[in-house]
Amino acid sequence: MFPPPPPAARDCLTRIFGFADFRPSQGAIVGALCAGQDVAAIMPTGAGKSLCYQIPALVRPGTALVISPLIALMQDQVRALTGFGVRAASLTSADPADAQARTRAALERGALDLLYVSPERLATPAFQSLLATTRIALVAVDEAHCVSEWGHDFRPEYRLIRGVLDSLPNVPRIALTATADANTRADICANLGIDPANMLVAGFDRPNITYRVEPRRNPRAQITALLQKHPQASAIIYCRSRAQVDQIADALAAAGFPALPYHAGLDAPTRSANQARWAAEPGQIMVATVAFGMGVDKPDVRLVIHLGLPKSIEGYYQETGRAGRDGDPATAVTLHGSSDISRNRQWLDEIEDPARRAIEAERLAALLRFVEATGCRRVPLLAHFGDSPAPSCRACDNCLSPPRLSDLTEPARKLLSAVYRTGQRFGIAHLTDVLRGQATPRVNDLGHDRLPLFGIGADLPKTAWAALARTLEAEEALLRDADHHGLRLGPAARAILKGERSVRVADSALAPRAKRERRRD
Ligand code: ADP
Ligand code: ZN
Repeated sequence: MFPPPPPAARDCLTRIFGFADFRPSQGAIVGALCAGQDVAAIMPTGAGKSLCYQIPALVRPGTALVISPLIALMQDQVRALTGFGVRAASLTSADPADAQARTRAALERGALDLLYVSPERLATPAFQSLLATTRIALVAVDEAHCVSEWGHDFRPEYRLIRGVLDSLPNVPRIALTATADANTRADICANLGIDPANMLVAGFDRPNITYRVEPRRNPRAQITALLQKHPQASAIIYCRSRAQVDQIADALAAAGFPALPYHAGLDAPTRSANQARWAAEPGQIMVATVAFGMGVDKPDVRLVIHLGLPKSIEGYYQETGRAGRDGDPATAVTLHGSSDISRNRQWLDEIEDPARRAIEAERLAALLRFVEATGCRRVPLLAHFGDSPAPSCRACDNCLSPPRLSDLTEPARKLLSAVYRTGQRFGIAHLTDVLRGQATPRVNDLGHDRLPLFGIGADLPKTAWAALARTLEAEEALLRDADHHGLRLGPAARAILKGERSVRVADSALAPRAKRERRRD
């Protein structure tokens, strides 16, 4: 679908910009634009979106129009481009009148490779008539999510762009954004007249980050072990509460680690002093809530630990994304316990707006697919953003040492039947009692001791049933009721019950944990 970049594009890349090679998605986008195709490019910040249209602007005859929402952004780009010897200019209200006149004259002479304009300027009759006499190489719409009311930054002026695009037949258009939200992406294509088949989502992978997930057994000991494995590493430890931040920071400091706390309960001067110290001193460890985030761009963070699950996959991606900005190897470790998920669900239940709750529920489900994954962790992580990684990455725990799996298809069918026979409203604790034949008062009261499946699962320990339930939930064979957390059958249950689909669970999740560990959980 996307042709390779032509030799002239490679030549620009090395000769003008001094880069050895295109990043994989850049090559595809440059190839498409050079061949006259439209593209909607969804790439995270820092992935290198600018080159995607700057190089085709140089390769194709004529001037490229670049529409951008912020004057400061345009000025930065023009400055950078002219520094490379590229003929670029902007037409904005911030440019003095004589500069604007020069730019217009240059445009008419065909002496500009790129012209940055605001959407308001684009729609003026004066600019329209200027366009009529100019050869346009392509139109790039930067920060394209501004065109969508779904986006976080809707600009009504962006709705004016479509008319201009449609007045330029045979000129390829590219929309660029870092937005991860599927609704907004679809809206961008609709509003800018780009075929959604020409959408390219890429670059969300952070290849230098190794992802690991471990059950939380003894958090302090696990954190200490991780810090010892990464000596003098600049690190962030995300905790789920302020109290936990204080506890862990104190414990680490007492053990001789350079650890600092950060949460919204600390006064502003302490917070900014801690942040500044962490940023400035090598090997500092920040113990923080998610309040620690704004303006964190220390390049050499080597280790990010999550002490408990973040709220959603988006949060997880953002927070772990603070590791390894310099491109050197970094590690992200999540220590999760069974109590995390129910706390996340509680938080979900508190969201009042049903539309938002549905979006957050999907983000949480994606996070569970990541945590419960027995294959490459990048697959569920990047699938959420619409990016498709190779099936094996060599930089996640499951790819580095594939977990031993047990086939639990039979127990899974027993559990799904138990869910169904008990009316699809009980949690895993009660279901386990029924399956294991524990005649608790509740089991007796409900008459569940008289069900044919009472006691048919006594061969598996409680932990195995809980692990199996988590796997079935991650695979959407079980769904959890938003109100009282009862389990009901999900879309994938049928294939399992009919024997068309098998269920495998990591052995490490099945064994009962030692008592001491369980208490700490
Ligand atoms: P975005 O707009 O997606 O946030 P930028 O276009 O600002 O990203 O690029 C981010 C950084 O990546 C810049 O410093 C840029 O010079 C660099 N970069 C872009 N493409 C390449 C490449 N092919 N090789 C090396 N570095 C690149
Ligand atoms: Zn992997």
